[in-house]
Amino acid sequence: MTTHLVWLRNDLRISDNHALHAACRSEDARVIALFVATPGQWSSHHMAPKQAEFIWQSLQDVQQSLAQKGIPLHLVQCDDFSASVALLQKFCQEHHVDRLFYNYQYEVNERQRDAAVERTLQDDGVVVQGFDDSLLLPPGSVLTGNREMYKVFTPFSKAFVKRLQEGLPECLPAPGIRSSGAIETTDRPLQCFDYPREESDASLFPVGEKAAIARLREFCQQPVTLYPDRRDLPAVDGTSRLSVYLATGVLSPRQCLHRLLKQHPQGLADTRVFVWLNELIWREFYRHLLVAYPALCRHQPFTGWTRDVKWRDDPQGLQAWQQGKTGYPIVDAAMRQLNTLGWMHNRLRMITASFLVKDLLIDWREGERYFMSQLLDGDLAANNGGWQWAASTGTDAAPYFRIFNPTTQGERFDKSGEFIRHWLPELRDVPEKYIHQPHEWAKKSQQSLDYPSPIVEHKQARLQTLAAFEAARKKTD
Ligand code: FAD
Repeated sequence: MTTHLVWLRNDLRISDNHALHAACRSEDARVIALFVATPGQWSSHHMAPKQAEFIWQSLQDVQQSLAQKGIPLHLVQCDDFSASVALLQKFCQEHHVDRLFYNYQYEVNERQRDAAVERTLQDDGVVVQGFDDSLLLPPGSVLTGNREMYKVFTPFSKAFVKRLQEGLPECLPAPGIRSSGAIETTDRPLQCFDYPREESDASLFPVGEKAAIARLREFCQQPVTLYPDRRDLPAVDGTSRLSVYLATGVLSPRQCLHRLLKQHPQGLADTRVFVWLNELIWREFYRHLLVAYPALCRHQPFTGWTRDVKWRDDPQGLQAWQQGKTGYPIVDAAMRQLNTLGWMHNRLRMITASFLVKDLLIDWREGERYFMSQLLDGDLAANNGGWQWAASTGTDAAPYFRIFNPTTQGERFDKSGEFIRHWLPELRDVPEKYIHQPHEWAKKSQQSLDYPSPIVEHKQARLQTLAAFEAARKKTD
């Protein structure tokens, strides 16, 4: 009997999983699955303890789903990606594996590891097969007329939709139950990996494939039609909150696309519903960019001259930002949301990132790292893309002279201060008129506030940042 090994990574689901589907195609093969934990590597990638806990719980969910199909899941651990090559080799030898199936990851370290695994196992006579799985369309398949990766999002999105109109990527079913001869015993409990773990709010981010599909279904009914009006309002539950499932592969983007189109068959043309689909295309854009420009994985700015921006060394400012103590209510409420939930609303990610880079003039990589260390949905491509957008160092980024005013952003997107009051209870009694500038109210009404004064003056900070960017640009001219 031949043995097929499915190497699970960022694809913690059994439905629409290309590698798993291919491994199960032959009815006679014995199929086993493996997850390799690499705590040292995760730590160097700043993986959030909340994400580690989510992965751990998702693995237990996948183990159960696989067991019902007669496929055992093994969990092994080594320090980092380079050690995982030998570990996989040993595992394959011990389990007499004939074929290995896995879904691609597109980051540089991951690709180097996969190339080494392929070489090593092929030398041992194992047939190795990789699949594009975490995207709607594979990297390199949506190119300009000159066969280059798009550097601007809108034409990329248009070309992307055209490709989808020509044919939708297929959504694969979960595998069937293995025929009796190919069933393995599956009753061992998994031994958890050694990485710090922290629980997240299970009512907002319930674990498991079923929970993810239920949220997707619910969102694709009515909420998606209201998305254009509500997506920028952090006090409203107006976005899908599916990012953690997409980042860990509990859900696939094809499942999102097919569910959306089932509910709204005109989804590719319908401008309201398309607003949400376009966000999924941003996700694709950043992943395609990562493959076209691997230097992004090494945290290099996309726009070369921004390398010369003189960032301020300000550990106290960085700490105030991280802890939500900048004295700007919308920034602080957002950072407390991040620190508590491991998730932050997109509009707030833009505001807080802009504040760190453009008000404090702190290197965007500090913020990128901190977000990663807290986010449940931490994903190198989306996080790097978002930070480089906010810092004006990326491709198709906010121009460097467009600087968010944190007070007016708060007034615009959390007018009544509902979100701010939720996360900053110390401002509960501040009247609506002053919620974005509580110290003005405190001064006028001679109240004392247990809330920090603004750590920078926005107008002055803006001028300082403009000067720093202009100096860097001139250096290159
Ligand atoms: P929805 O609005 O419902 O969007 C649906 C899905 O589309 C999301 O789940 C996500 O997978 C994708 N998506 C939405 N917006 C973007 C975007 N701008 N770029 C890429 N994909 C997008 N997203 C992450 O998944 N991981 C990150 O580490 C991450 N870091 C970010 C850092 C910064 C500075 C910024 C500005 C954005 C970041 N984003 C990141 C993108 C975005 O903020 C989140 O995907 C979104 O807030 C998740 O909430 P949701 O699932 O309700 O999104």
